[in-house]
Amino acid sequence: MIPVTKPFLPPKEEFDELIAGIWQRNWLTNGGPLANKLELDLKRHLGVDHLLFLSNGTIALQFAIRALDLKGEVITTPFSYVATASSLVWEGCQPVFADIDPHTLNIDPATIEALITPNTSGILATHVFGNACDVEAIQDIADRHGLKVIYDGAHAFGVKYKGKSIFSYGDISTCSFHATKLFHTTEGGAVITKDPELLRKMSRFRSFGHTSATSFEGVGINGKNSEFHAAMGLANLGHVPQIIERRKEISELYDKWLKGVAGETPEITSGTTYNYAYYPILFSSEQELLKVIEALNRAKIYPRRYFYPSLSKLDYVEKRPTPIADDIASRVLCLPLYHELSSEEVELVCRLILRKKRY
Ligand SMILES: *Cc1c(COP(=O)(O)O)cnc(C)c1O
Repeated sequence: MIPVTKPFLPPKEEFDELIAGIWQRNWLTNGGPLANKLELDLKRHLGVDHLLFLSNGTIALQFAIRALDLKGEVITTPFSYVATASSLVWEGCQPVFADIDPHTLNIDPATIEALITPNTSGILATHVFGNACDVEAIQDIADRHGLKVIYDGAHAFGVKYKGKSIFSYGDISTCSFHATKLFHTTEGGAVITKDPELLRKMSRFRSFGHTSATSFEGVGINGKNSEFHAAMGLANLGHVPQIIERRKEISELYDKWLKGVAGETPEITSGTTYNYAYYPILFSSEQELLKVIEALNRAKIYPRRYFYPSLSKLDYVEKRPTPIADDIASRVLCLPLYHELSSEEVELVCRLILRKKRY
């Protein structure tokens, strides 16, 4: 069986060593030493000022929306994972869907401005598949209209834009460390910001609003993560360069056999140092995509339709036409891509796709 992804697991000895320390200290959660070390190591690894390690990437989005006090309408992308839109609705905001750029698959800044009303409070954009958004154009629109900007960077671990971490753009960036992501802590996520006041606010959200054992400031919730999850993150972090290197090799094999022959791949925004988080391919039609999926499934290969359907089709959002996102969502497929995937397996996937294309 070849799934679309498989979680990376570090050598077990490396994890065991960290776990042994947990037994010695008997400190399992609530800002333990491993969680603190992971935050420090992540800040250093990514080159960002402030980062909070949280229980998942969805609560990271919720914290960002709340910390920036977003209300009313938030302009967002219809081409992302459901959490991008659902977290807005969960926080009482109304997602307003812009359309996407058909080449980068990210929100198209040219479609944002026409959607701004007196009720618009912010922009929530996703660096889809790890490809950097047009951060300059988005910031320019936000500045001119007094809007806050959140980036859902769930796919963008390790991505740089113009030499800086992609997480250093916008007011707050979020990341997911879920098991299926390039860097993971089993379950986990983070918020990243340059603003120390936003950091303090989100740090209070994370532990029930506590400022000390007996005092509180504002409404909080539980967004903490555990020492066990931090241990997985610490063990994985050292392997990230090899993980990205192997994903790059696999992506280049797919490119060699498929790109321009079986379909097209998104255009990487210029200035992006890419992380090879996914291998999306665009077929010419949904019919062709379904034929390819069927042929691959018959060989026990399970690619995934990331992202289908377009989020503007959810039954709890206001419908707006997003023709480009709808078209892309109907014919994009993410091919298997994970550290252990062998070159022979990649070749098999490619041969089956090409055979299906021909007949
Ligand atoms: C995975 C993902 C999330 C959610 O992260 P979790 O850690 O699973 O809560 C949010 N947005 C995008 C784009 C994602 O891919």
